[in-house]
Amino acid sequence: MENNSWKETLEELWGQTCRTALDLGDAAGRGAKAAGKTAETAARYAKLKLEEADLTAQVRRKLQRVGEMVYATHTGDPTGSDAMEEALLEIDSLREVLREKERQRLGLRGLRRCGGCGAMNEGKNEYCTNCGQPLERQAEE
Ligand SMILES: [Zn+2]
Repeated sequence: MENNSWKETLEELWGQTCRTALDLGDAAGRGAKAAGKTAETAARYAKLKLEEADLTAQVRRKLQRVGEMVYATHTGDPTGSDAMEEALLEIDSLREVLREKERQRLGLRGLRRCGGCGAMNEGKNEYCTNCGQPLERQAEE
């Protein structure tokens, strides 16, 4: 009888230990998953930031090229308007891509830039806290 009750107590203890171990394992698994997601988000953020830096440099080079065309025209060596128009349209499309990258990057931090005044807003805001303009609703990714 005595032996039996010891056995039961041990079995119960063993059972508790196993359940605790399972719970801990589960919690560790969730923690690792959350950390993995954070690292992935940080990597995406950094990648977007690099792409933006590259695009900004491209825009700057093209703006410099436009400046050279304008100055050449001023000094009597006029640039064809087609060449000028082409350069300006390239800048437009580069800036469009740049804005989209920034929008994605800010979205990772739950932020949104106002299309009107350029102020940074919380992603959940309906209106810009700086100028009051409605913030564009964008599809969540
Ligand atoms: Zn604004």
